[in-house]
Amino acid sequence: MNFWMCKCGKKVSANILKCPYCKAPADQETQLKFNPNLTSCRDCKKPISKGATKCPSCGCSNPGIPENSYMVASAITIVIVVIIAIFFFVRYQTASAKARQQMNDASEAAEDAQRSLQKLQDQLKRQ
Ligand SMILES: [Zn+2]
Ligand SMILES: [Zn+2]
Repeated sequence: MNFWMCKCGKKVSANILKCPYCKAPADQETQLKFNPNLTSCRDCKKPISKGATKCPSCGCSNPGIPENSYMVASAITIVIVVIIAIFFFVRYQTASAKARQQMNDASEAAEDAQRSLQKLQDQLKRQ
């Protein structure tokens, strides 16, 4: 069993976060420690409910999400964007390389055709 010490000097069970003797609520630290639905605001560090989208004390948004997890999330987003960009760049490169190859093939074929035409013309001249 967990207890917290009230300011009045009494031990209070952890599942009651209000002192039954002096009716004082547990201090912020105790509330954070024993109430699984509470977390501390990342800005003002006051206890807030985990699902809160706005801190009732300082008004910051998503106070239950620490700043560094925001940073992690944005870092992941950046990495994903970069990967997608590389993917499309590589695809574009491959596609244009293929197109260039096809153009080379086509111009080679055209040269071949021209050469054989030249040959034919030469043969015709000789006859
Ligand atoms: Zn008390
Ligand atoms: Zn706050």
